[in-house]
Amino acid sequence: MTSWPHEPVLVVGARPVGQTTALLLARWGVPSVVLDKRPARDLVGSKAICQQRDVLDIWASVGAGEQIAAEGVTWTTARTFHRADELFAHTFADAGSSPFPPFVNLSQSRTEEILDERIAAEPLIDLRWGREVTDLAEHPAPFTVLCTGAAGALRRTLGVTFDGFSFDDRFLICDIRTDLPGWATERRFFFDPEWNPGRQVLVHPCPGGTFRIDWQVPADYDLDAEVASGALDQRIRAIIGNRPYDIVWKSVYRFHSRIASRMRVGRVLLAGDAAHLVSPFGARGLNSGVADAENAAWKIAHVGYGWAPEELLESYHAERHAAARENLAVTTATMDFLVPPDPERAAHRADVLARAAVDPAAHAQVNSGRLAEPFWYHESPLTTPDPTRPFGGRPPRGAVPPAGPGVLVPDVPAHGESPFSGRRVIVSGTADRPARLRELAREGFLVLLTEGADPAVADAAARAVAAPVRVAPLDPAVAAALGARPGEAWVLRPDAHIAAIVQTADLETALCRALGHPTAIPRKEHASAVLPPLR
Ligand SMILES: Cc1cc2nc3c(=O)[nH]c(=O)nc-3n(C[C@H](O)[C@H](O)[C@H](O)COP(=O)(O)OP(=O)(O)OC[C@H]3O[C@@H](n4cnc5c(N)ncnc54)[C@H](O)[C@@H]3O)c2cc1C
Repeated sequence: MTSWPHEPVLVVGARPVGQTTALLLARWGVPSVVLDKRPARDLVGSKAICQQRDVLDIWASVGAGEQIAAEGVTWTTARTFHRADELFAHTFADAGSSPFPPFVNLSQSRTEEILDERIAAEPLIDLRWGREVTDLAEHPAPFTVLCTGAAGALRRTLGVTFDGFSFDDRFLICDIRTDLPGWATERRFFFDPEWNPGRQVLVHPCPGGTFRIDWQVPADYDLDAEVASGALDQRIRAIIGNRPYDIVWKSVYRFHSRIASRMRVGRVLLAGDAAHLVSPFGARGLNSGVADAENAAWKIAHVGYGWAPEELLESYHAERHAAARENLAVTTATMDFLVPPDPERAAHRADVLARAAVDPAAHAQVNSGRLAEPFWYHESPLTTPDPTRPFGGRPPRGAVPPAGPGVLVPDVPAHGESPFSGRRVIVSGTADRPARLRELAREGFLVLLTEGADPAVADAAARAVAAPVRVAPLDPAVAAALGARPGEAWVLRPDAHIAAIVQTADLETALCRALGHPTAIPRKEHASAVLPPLR
């Protein structure tokens, strides 16, 4: 067993991104101290509700994904309206073999509670409330992850800017409990309804007969005045009619579009809202913050254990900054459609909405948000390109890119048996619940060999690098599901992204690259690195 050779990692901020970071670090046997300035967990209100399948998968690796999925509402249909007319309905095809649905809705506050339960059961996490960090120098730690949300003070002490802009319009959010037959598994998006003229309304189902209603409102909107005058009640009744309802929570938000200039400063990594703020249409805030947490955790573990060079931390910035830029591009396009910033774009929106009523070809141009998806690291310094599998660019809405370098590996089930046959079989599932390829990948670097690849050369390559790397032959059925060809070595990273697809002769170079080595290939000092206790 390898034990962590440093003091605990410092995680600042105990909302979902900080919680997830600490849990994922613990999975690598890395202790952490989590500090939050709030006196205790406040479960008032909810921000994020919409959790994406691959994020549930990350949470499953720390024992929380199944519960979040089970408690959340799985919504299957997205309906889009313009004024009184329904333009189209989109139903999610559950094409993948993931155990999770494409999206579940659960309040962020309940998600935080579930993550807290996992933290309470984790001796490697020391969570302390009422501890504001004002100066990182006062908290010496081998590595620090800032999960401090939009708050800027610590970012500024690092010399990191947070460039971007804020939207003028506000968004009124009410979570109401009521009975809306037929609405319980559907998301409804209304452009320009007569009860919110010129602006949008979004209605999302949540557990317990609760619905999230989100109205776009002008910059001078006054919630207290609306409550006092009864206008808020009229607003709600315009949607739900005369049925009884309770307001569970209400608030007014201003949305921002901002990105940190750096996501890594030395051994300090910025994650989640501390690094990027996007409008929530598309649910890309928390979902991308969880992917930051996973990227940060495995890299800190690999650098901290001495399995990878310091440069691996720089790839955190390269990969997650690129992901944040993609999220900004996608959400900015959505906001330009929802809140056109100039007459030209207003005219475009009016034209698209008018055409969408009569021409299905225009539906794809109606932008109510492109939903969260994992980023593809095809341009990452860690990824070895494969000229036979060029990246085809951002896939159509709702589709995933084909398996190739940089992409999150498809989740291939083992169907009751390990997907690996022959020697060094890796089994982490049970007879009742067999392993999935992504679960196996998340246990550490994994090289999968197709038929005809030379196992001796692959073993030698795995032994040559300082990190623990497992080599296993790939079952032909799994290879076929991945689109793998004979004679290939597939390198899967600990976040289940594909780092390389190469011939075994090129495997050592690809592994070194995936571990962040700039050029030279370091030889392992001792014969076999061992994994820390993975839980
Ligand atoms: C209305 C709304 C709806 C949304 N819907 C979605 C959605 O459906 N899906 C989605 O993916 N995202 C959504 N988001 C975005 C999502 O809520 C955020 O991305 C998420 O909360 C970010 O989590 P975080 O842990 O990075 O930061 P935060 O939640 O902001 O937490 C930061 C923590 O750091 C602590 N802290 C700050 N400074 C310090 C300090 N100096 N010392 C100690 N502690 C400190 C704070 O007390 C806080 O606990 C939505 C946001 C809004 C506003």
